[in-house]
Amino acid sequence: MDLGIKGRTALVCASSKGLGRGCAEALAAEGVDLVLNARGNEALEATAASIRDVSDVAVTTIAADITSEAGQAAVLAAAGDVDILVTNAGGPPPGTWTDWDRDDFIAAFDANLLTPIAMIKALLPSMMARGWGRIVNITSVAVKAPIPVLGLSNTARSGLTGYVAGVARQVAGSGVTINNLLPGLHDTDRLAMLDQVDASARGISEAEAREARTATVPAGRFGTADEFGAACAWLCSDKAGFVIGQNILLDGGAFPGAM
Ligand code: NAP
Repeated sequence: MDLGIKGRTALVCASSKGLGRGCAEALAAEGVDLVLNARGNEALEATAASIRDVSDVAVTTIAADITSEAGQAAVLAAAGDVDILVTNAGGPPPGTWTDWDRDDFIAAFDANLLTPIAMIKALLPSMMARGWGRIVNITSVAVKAPIPVLGLSNTARSGLTGYVAGVARQVAGSGVTINNLLPGLHDTDRLAMLDQVDASARGISEAEAREARTATVPAGRFGTADEFGAACAWLCSDKAGFVIGQNILLDGGAFPGAM
């Protein structure tokens, strides 16, 4: 299927690795020019080079911390008036309720709530003026099924979900869609880190922690960044213009609800 976005431009935040990279690669495969961002320059340039090797899209990189005001300003200046925005940042650390103080919540809100809101607010006006835009936020299964050790993530991402539910409908008539993609367990560095923490807390090996986590997924495996990116590209496509304010779960069947 031709997704109808060849020649569009996309800013994909936090995209040198993992799910953000998967989204960037899938958009490039559809002929979308890219602005990629991450803090570490080496992986960012390696990802950009790998995308240039397999496609003829323009790839711009901007190394910056997307959760800081200065980082957001630098990324927005490099990106200009893009057609597609994918918001993303690293997730908060795991812990338990006694660990989390005000500063921890502020950091999580900055990264996973206020940063996507700032990026959306900055780029929506030009998308609306042009009558076309796609915004996809990478959130988490945690907004449907909160994960106890990820209380900071549960709290911040629930706030973003509420924000998007309202704003997506406020701007829907302008040709701009805003939706959330909710990853369940995907095979990335983030998941490997969570397996390490789990293994040391429970006195088991990382392989055992991974096996136990895999057993919670009816599909019997973790998701891949490629699969996640394909869903993102479809949500960013011309074909998905009637999908507004949705929360689309990619979790291999782990969430047990009917809807
Ligand atoms: P990942 O494999 O660790 O990749 C994170 C990417 O984001 C890297 O490119 C990293 O590069 C970049 N990044 C992190 N913090 C950044 C910042 N402050 N500014 C700019 N770039 C930043 O993580 P992932 O698994 O793709 O996860 C992406 C998001 O989905 C996270 O919020 C995560 O919590 C959430 N999530 C993931 C899963 C899963 O199973 N993987 C499940 C649910 C939710 P640098 O470190 O160089 O900046």
